[in-house]
Amino acid sequence: MIDQTEIIMRNQLLDRKQQLSAALVKSSQSRDLRRLLHEVDAALSRMDDGTFGLCEVCHDPVETDRLMADPLARFCLDHISQREREMLERDLEMAARIQTEMLPKPGFVFGDWQVACHYEPAGPVSGDYCDLVNDRHGNLYFILGDVSGKGVAAAMLMTQLHAMFRSLISIGLPLEQLVERVSSLFCESTLPTYYATLVCGKAAPAGEVEICNAGHMPVFWLRRDGVESIESMGLPIGLFCETQFSCFKVNLAPGDSLLLYTDGLSEARNGLDEEYGVERLTKQVSDSHMLTVESLIAECMVDLKSFLAGERTSDDLTVMAIQRAR
Ligand SMILES: [Zn+2]
Repeated sequence: MIDQTEIIMRNQLLDRKQQLSAALVKSSQSRDLRRLLHEVDAALSRMDDGTFGLCEVCHDPVETDRLMADPLARFCLDHISQREREMLERDLEMAARIQTEMLPKPGFVFGDWQVACHYEPAGPVSGDYCDLVNDRHGNLYFILGDVSGKGVAAAMLMTQLHAMFRSLISIGLPLEQLVERVSSLFCESTLPTYYATLVCGKAAPAGEVEICNAGHMPVFWLRRDGVESIESMGLPIGLFCETQFSCFKVNLAPGDSLLLYTDGLSEARNGLDEEYGVERLTKQVSDSHMLTVESLIAECMVDLKSFLAGERTSDDLTVMAIQRAR
């Protein structure tokens, strides 16, 4: 079977070739353009002879996320030049800074809702999506998602989700339709191997919260009398271009919180190869009803740290807590 990724990349390269040829006719900087055109042609012939995506030094595959970000890449990370390495590091630093700018600000308050987040990429950038958006009717949308894969490619798709949700929320669609629309756009615009699990919620001023859990980890509802788990009710987004989603409604009393997290928390593994697990997390938050959102997250992080006992997490980790203050 021909690799779908390669078909998409070939089309991208052909498109670039066309644009470069058109620009060459008009531009005065033709030397640079000619060099790029030459590189695009070389990449296309590597596709023809089956060496595309293999490092020219060690012949191992070039990291997929780097290749997706730059189909002209010819060397694996171990074999790029010092200059390229420095450029790559600068690019990643810039990408990380842009991603940090997209995150909710600490101490977020909207109406009766208080929100805190912990966002910890495994590398310089993260494939986790974490966002808070309010509409003009006093509703607060909260979204936490996890794009399949890690690194630069996942981070690029995360920023796509950020843009899609932010533009579609302003239209005011019912929540399930909002998620359906994002899912179909995401499916159409990304490689078939990519999808995202996510929770999208809409919190109204009077404490009513609608939640759509698309293939994501369960959401915890911390109530005075215990913890309730809101499970996934459907597929991840972007897996199929036409998927229907459904919502769940809950009424949060003053002091109640919701806790959302990515599998970087629940599937974290310690040095003994044990998993942190949803069960331990449930126990951890079961007495946390009246904690502030900041303390709730801080206590989860302390417990995770003690479980990991010095081991580093290998996955992007995001936790979000939302509380109805009054
Ligand atoms: Zn190599």
